[in-house]
Amino acid sequence: MTSVRVAVRVRPLNKREKQLSSKVIIHMKEKTATIQKPTVRGDELKGAGKTFSYDFSYDSFDRRSPTFASQEKIFRDLGFEVLKAAFEGYNACVIAYGQTGSGKSYTMMGPSHDKGLIPRICEGLFWEISHRSKSDAVMFHTEVSYLEICNERMQDLLKKRASPTDDGGLSVREHPRHGPYVENLSKHLVQSYSEVEGLIILGNAKRTTASRGVNDFSKRSHAIFTIMFTQVWCDAEPLYETVSKIHLVDLAGSEKVDPTRTVGGRLKESADINKSLVTLGHVISALADLGVGVSTTKQIFIPYRDSVLTWLLKDSLGGNSKTTMIATISPADVNYMETLNTLRFASQAK
Ligand code: ADP
Repeated sequence: MTSVRVAVRVRPLNKREKQLSSKVIIHMKEKTATIQKPTVRGDELKGAGKTFSYDFSYDSFDRRSPTFASQEKIFRDLGFEVLKAAFEGYNACVIAYGQTGSGKSYTMMGPSHDKGLIPRICEGLFWEISHRSKSDAVMFHTEVSYLEICNERMQDLLKKRASPTDDGGLSVREHPRHGPYVENLSKHLVQSYSEVEGLIILGNAKRTTASRGVNDFSKRSHAIFTIMFTQVWCDAEPLYETVSKIHLVDLAGSEKVDPTRTVGGRLKESADINKSLVTLGHVISALADLGVGVSTTKQIFIPYRDSVLTWLLKDSLGGNSKTTMIATISPADVNYMETLNTLRFASQAK
């Protein structure tokens, strides 16, 4: 049985939205998010709005509100489960989905003074390792890798190119027992959080942010930070080990791309980004159907191999993996359509 945990997080109004005197059209209550349609004349919001239910809903408006979520709370609610899965030998995956500027990177990486999920999960992992290694007869081995998928092509974010002509392109292969992997992707043995932190800084600096065309600030690449965590029980005869793969994914912006404003290769790039996102939608909704038992008699085909992203995440999306999606949204009326699309996407994942 597979089920995806889904959280929705709304960020505060940003400077631009405040300058435009944007209205807040999102309201969180318990596990729901309600969106109100702005009126054409921009006067008072009318009607009850549309309400969606999730596993968690978070806002950022009032610290005293029960729906207010700090980075710490998001880690406690969502990150702990990932660590638990890793120590139990399962795979886990957290995916941030939403339009550019809605808070995906803030949630996954966060600023250095208020870290997001990826650094907190890594910190938590080493904290737990240091406590367990004192008592248990277990050895721990942790490796990380960091890559981006842009235009259905993968780049290693932790490796220098061999030469200026080396395009750094990598491909997905599938191991019969260990599942999909990226051939020639660099893996880095890490023994402390500070080692991971150095690699995160290196990888983030290399991440592609295109600066022309559709949207000046649009992040066009999907970034995947992977932790490969192995535990070896030395007192077992024969030696026994478990391997957990944790994929932490900051997706490209989900906004609809306007083809009239793209040129040449950039149009293909947009189409391919959408291909990964559209396929992700198909995979997640097929998994959700399996989860609620819609098709107990019929075999459901899950189109993992239709995009690089879903192929790579195949054994983290479904099966025994703990999968979490965090949909991030803007609170402002000016983003109504994109926000509604994100809320719908997230709701079909449940
Ligand atoms: P995305 O990765 O979706 O493109 P970012 O994470 O870069 O978006 O967020 C855009 C801006 O909004 C950043 O300046 C970020 O600091 C701010 N921001 C996003 N989410 C929050 C939040 N929950 N609380 C405070 N600021 C946020």
